[in-house]
Amino acid sequence: MADSYDLVVIGAGPGGYVAAIRAAQLGLKTACVEARDRLGGTCLNIGCIPSKALLQASHKMHEAAHGLAAFGVEVTSAKLNLPGMMAHKDKVVDANTKGVEFLFKKNKVTWLKGMGSIAAPGKVVVKKTDGATDTVETKRILIATGSESMPLPGVEIDEKRVVTSTGALTLSAVPKRLVVVGGGYIGLEMGSVWGRLGAEVTVVEFLDRIVPTMDGEVGKQFQRTLGKQGFKFKLSTKVVGAKSSATGVTLTLEPAKGGTQETLEADVVLVSIGRRPYTDGLGLERAGVALDERKRVKVNHHFETNVPGIYAIGDVIAGPMLAHKAEDEGVAAAEIMAGQAGHVNYDVIPGIVYTWPEVASVGKTEEEIKAAGIEYRVGKFPFTANGRARANNDTDGFVKIIADAKTDRVLGVHIIGPEAGTMIHECCVAMEFSASAEDIARTCHGHPTLNEAIKEAALAVDGRPIHI
Ligand SMILES: Cc1cc2nc3c(=O)[nH]c(=O)nc-3n(C[C@H](O)[C@H](O)[C@H](O)COP(=O)(O)OP(=O)(O)OC[C@H]3O[C@@H](n4cnc5c(N)ncnc54)[C@H](O)[C@@H]3O)c2cc1C
Repeated sequence: MADSYDLVVIGAGPGGYVAAIRAAQLGLKTACVEARDRLGGTCLNIGCIPSKALLQASHKMHEAAHGLAAFGVEVTSAKLNLPGMMAHKDKVVDANTKGVEFLFKKNKVTWLKGMGSIAAPGKVVVKKTDGATDTVETKRILIATGSESMPLPGVEIDEKRVVTSTGALTLSAVPKRLVVVGGGYIGLEMGSVWGRLGAEVTVVEFLDRIVPTMDGEVGKQFQRTLGKQGFKFKLSTKVVGAKSSATGVTLTLEPAKGGTQETLEADVVLVSIGRRPYTDGLGLERAGVALDERKRVKVNHHFETNVPGIYAIGDVIAGPMLAHKAEDEGVAAAEIMAGQAGHVNYDVIPGIVYTWPEVASVGKTEEEIKAAGIEYRVGKFPFTANGRARANNDTDGFVKIIADAKTDRVLGVHIIGPEAGTMIHECCVAMEFSASAEDIARTCHGHPTLNEAIKEAALAVDGRPIHI
């Protein structure tokens, strides 16, 4: 007789593995199907975790080579050991993925190894690497199959010279010239890694600005800062072809609106123009699961598809493609299945770019608030006026808080600066509790901390910052 479960999750990324653990905590007999030989999905294997390991390592290299003299620390020679840096990354990935395996065992989640597909509602087939199949029965199915890199027509990926983010995490040498196609956060992060290690980085972006979802003022400052670090930008430009040879790649570029073509030489090209939902071989058509116009699985507020008993979360459904969004949806979906009131507040999902300085935001941008016709006030505070930032010799950037002009409720916070990705979370908590700028301004902040810049920006909303 086939094994039977209360819940079978397909995909063990941050959405799927978190959902499986939460469901098991709530007493559901749970299995998780994963095709990779390691748990953790894109995030732990080829995404968030390895990219942050390389960002941290390359930041340290850059600091050792260029950043310590200002502190009176003289380094005679900082030398890159790229295999050593990659070993650090691999060790971190290994520890994290094994950590999820341990959590599955601890919570009695069964890992079904292989490629999962939906034979019918309540029936999942698992195809193992040796070709054998198992069929399991389940009361509910949760699709958490994530996403994959978006291909660029006319550009063939070989993961050596023309790479996706996956290839960019494992280059065997620092390229002299790296061209990043796409000015989104993944391309800018990977560009930062290789730029810090010595590559000349050129970003080619179709739109007239980088990271288009970012608050405009922060985006401009971000581009200026990256420019100072050596990034070159070719905006409003599209890549229409790529020709690889033994020594490099010749890209053909064209103005976004059309016009005269030009060529650009590179040693390595990183194609990072976005990600698309991954549903290949899942059997969604057979099961009758509806997709939206962008081939994402359509769900209702309870993460249930049009087929009763089949749910979906994470990158494979609508919304920002972020690990923490997938995790929160995983928890909410599991709680709903267990009869609780799971919920995700999509108005308070932080977005972070882990370059240096970091860029972090939560809530609405100034452009969105203006377009909605809401009267608002802005408070800003630069890190040049923050004592701790000066002590750290890290004064690039500012905090910007936007509040409703009538109620003073915080509508959006945008930070470019050191540790922005950590600092943003006090604003997330504040917004989750519907705080006003005055609430943040009246909260005692430890001194000397970078977070004092947030308090000062909140004071600046009312025109009364102290330290500027
Ligand atoms: C380079 C890079 C850096 C990133 N950095 C960040 C970051 O700093 N912060 C952040 O929040 N997000 C980041 N992301 C995005 C983040 O990785 C994703 O948003 C997140 O992993 C989505 O989680 P998920 O669970 O929906 O899917 P995934 O993590 O994609 O997991 C899906 C899993 O399902 C498996 N699978 C698919 N189909 C099947 C099947 N039929 N049967 C069995 N298994 C299957 C896949 O093998 C995969 O392991 C980054 C992404 C990349 C590529």
